Amino acid sequence: MRYAFAALLLAAPLSLPAQILFAPPKPVTHKPAPAAPTTPAAVHRSAIVIDTHADTTQRMLDDHYDLTEPLDGGYLNFASAREGNLGAEFFSIWVEPKLYQGHYAERTLELIDAVYQQAAAHPDQMMMAYSPDDILRAHREHKLAALMGIEGGHSIEDSLGLLRDYYRLGVRYMTLTWSNSNDWADSSGDIDDPTVKHTLDGLTDFGKDVVYEMNRLGMMVDISHVSDKTFYRTVITSRAPVFASHSSARALTNSPRNMTDDMLRAVARSGGPTSKGGVIMVNFYSGFISDDWRNAWNAQAPERQAAEKKQIDEWKAQGKTITYEMTDALDKQWAAKIPRPPLSLLIDHIDHIAKVAGIDHVGLGSDFDGIPSSPAGLDSAADLPKITEALMARGYSAEDCRKILGENFLRFFREVQATAKELQAESANRPKITDQQPFKK
Ligand SMILES: [Zn+2]
Repeated sequence: MRYAFAALLLAAPLSLPAQILFAPPKPVTHKPAPAAPTTPAAVHRSAIVIDTHADTTQRMLDDHYDLTEPLDGGYLNFASAREGNLGAEFFSIWVEPKLYQGHYAERTLELIDAVYQQAAAHPDQMMMAYSPDDILRAHREHKLAALMGIEGGHSIEDSLGLLRDYYRLGVRYMTLTWSNSNDWADSSGDIDDPTVKHTLDGLTDFGKDVVYEMNRLGMMVDISHVSDKTFYRTVITSRAPVFASHSSARALTNSPRNMTDDMLRAVARSGGPTSKGGVIMVNFYSGFISDDWRNAWNAQAPERQAAEKKQIDEWKAQGKTITYEMTDALDKQWAAKIPRPPLSLLIDHIDHIAKVAGIDHVGLGSDFDGIPSSPAGLDSAADLPKITEALMARGYSAEDCRKILGENFLRFFREVQATAKELQAESANRPKITDQQPFKK
């Protein structure tokens, strides 16, 4: 039976008409391509959204905040991340320099642990990520990619060994300074304070060794917070492109934490002639995007600081440990007295940086949970789609939006990793500048 059937099959072609046997091959018909997203909501959904700075880590460590809980005054939890299609968050590892003096490494390690603990508690919603590929993997698995950046070089306690340890634990960027200058780099926060000792050239020789070691490891060099001189010294020292994890444009809002047009261009061109350059990740803080808000906040300072000091002293007298959430709540009460700037001002900063540095050099560095005020309507990660909507209303294409929302940063991150591989191949034993010269300011 089976053979008879086979014989029939073999014989069949002979009985077919010639025009069928020798018909030209039919043109290949493709399935229609899925329609490209065109509405702002669809474009936002189609993007890999990356935010390079949130201070939620302190809430998690000090206040045992769990990302499954309601926001309760905060900016980031799982629900808001999902609603805002946030794909990757860099959790800031920030050590308050006065409070933790003498214990910088200990506090750094505890903050790192808090991020791991959160990921361990919710493996279905969050995964630790260490590379651009990890970010893409988390995106495919519909999980929030959790990455870490150290905010303030004082965390390494002048030790390249500690720097390498932090890299091994997963830290993928370091802001060279926070608002405090350290032994090897200067901060915009105290550069005008004559009581603080500063470097001669922006970076000491050890500071240059730190930058080189970061390049060699593949740890992104973050120039947010540094003084202008330290910025330029770092740009010419770093073999990899550099980035600003959470800074806005100084031409629009005159804060020393923001970057001049010249700096924006220098970041875009950083990394040498073959580099695709760095990125400026725009900070959402009202005080960095609106001069009116910033002036009102500064005018309020004497009264605010006196009142906050009184409250903190009272808490201390009651034997309470002062946590970040407590001081943050005080700041927020005062910030609430000043009208929030419109969202359009944040978009102005993104637009300005895209025009001055280029569309390939701008991204988002919200500073969520590290700022007492944000633009009206931008209350949490859930509101991120409003940025895409506003950009498209100004004529930004879907492709431009996806670059700003995450692709620019991914490209930069990949290049930092590639540069690290080159440097590792170049020399495993490059002599340190400070091997020849004693470490001093
Ligand atoms: Zn900061």
